[in-house]
Amino acid sequence: MHPDPLPTLQRVFGFPQFRGVQSEVVSRVLERERTLAVMPTGAGKSLCYQLPAVMNEGTCIVVSPLIALMHDQLRGAEAVGIRAATLTSADENRGETLRRFRAGALDLLYVAPERASGQAFRDLLTEAPLCLFAIDEAHCVSEWGHDFRPDYRLLSPLMDAFPDVPRLALTATADAHTRADIAKQLGIPADGMIVSGFDRPNIRYSISAKANVNRQIADLIAATPGPGIVYAQTRAATEKLAEALGRSGRPTRAYHAGLEPHIRAKNQADFVASEDMVICATVAFGMGIDKPDVRFVAHAGLPKSIEAYYQETGRAGRDGDPSVAHLFWGADDFARARQRIGEVEPERQAGERTRLQSLAALVETAGCRRRILLRHFGEDPAEDCGNCDNCLGSPDAVDATETARKFLSAV
Ligand code: ADP
Ligand code: MG
Repeated sequence: MHPDPLPTLQRVFGFPQFRGVQSEVVSRVLERERTLAVMPTGAGKSLCYQLPAVMNEGTCIVVSPLIALMHDQLRGAEAVGIRAATLTSADENRGETLRRFRAGALDLLYVAPERASGQAFRDLLTEAPLCLFAIDEAHCVSEWGHDFRPDYRLLSPLMDAFPDVPRLALTATADAHTRADIAKQLGIPADGMIVSGFDRPNIRYSISAKANVNRQIADLIAATPGPGIVYAQTRAATEKLAEALGRSGRPTRAYHAGLEPHIRAKNQADFVASEDMVICATVAFGMGIDKPDVRFVAHAGLPKSIEAYYQETGRAGRDGDPSVAHLFWGADDFARARQRIGEVEPERQAGERTRLQSLAALVETAGCRRRILLRHFGEDPAEDCGNCDNCLGSPDAVDATETARKFLSAV
């Protein structure tokens, strides 16, 4: 059992509570378990090593790929009273830093990977107790990652020379392939991985009012290569859409519970095997389908709830590559949803109305879509996402918002 980190979080960092998986990651580090934390940008990865470094005896060695990044981190750490220093070619106070390290007077020592790989540095590390190796931007160790740095490969031998010092690798990289590789390269067990957060940063969210939805979806498909899913609201609509979109030359299939089982199975198998197919489906499609390269998910009408929207759009981009989620909605969708609410048992109506209001807020916002989504799941992003229609200033975002206001006041 390790000591409770919460008092230190509050006293040193001034945060009332942990965010997301931070407490899980910190607990593992305090238990001295080797860990790979995959957390989206802004999730607060630094805290996951800074906090244990403050609580434990010995220095935490932080490997970071960029000097500019290190200096930002250093300023942040010093601002809350953490004893920290950098060891880079750009430092003037090298002697002072070495003295502080040897005296055990540093909580954090930031180093660049090229330095960490030398014999002199390895010798230095034997001169004072260490509490943790923290490898920031750990995807740099993997050739699968988007920013491979050969020097990161030398970290594992360095850490192997200190087998009792725990390791924490941190990255925002989402793709499962890269994650597994990072863990392998850094000697972290596969079950030592903690993947956090609801954010799917590689998915670009867009929401527009329906004008001629078949036309709008055809345009989206023309602009978006790769496999895609179009969710329609009725079985008939999936078939009509598949037929209409098929005329563009893109292979298409329909999928709904009313199809003969062998046809349904074949359409699904064809989709999974294809690199450019569009499947027009009811929400019966998707559960348990593992197709990592789905490049877009379109909704030809309002989904049932934010949870459903998140789950359905979440089928895009599981490989971590850029993907699109585009929802087309109409006032008729809201009218129908309100009518449905009127028909459910009275005790469920308030809940259903709240769900619909949450959806309306997502559709209506002129602000960041992702912020609304993540707030819905209890996260509070520090910044706008820069990867949704509103953040990107899409021209029809304004129209959709105004149209939305007109219809949604009644929700
Ligand atoms: P990452 O490296 O994951 O992108 P950072 O470590 O730079 O994220 O942290 C992002 C921001 O979140 C920082 O401003 C940090 O102070 C803040 N932060 C971290 N943990 C918490 C917390 N538990 N509560 C509130 N803010 C936090
Ligand atoms: Mg960071």
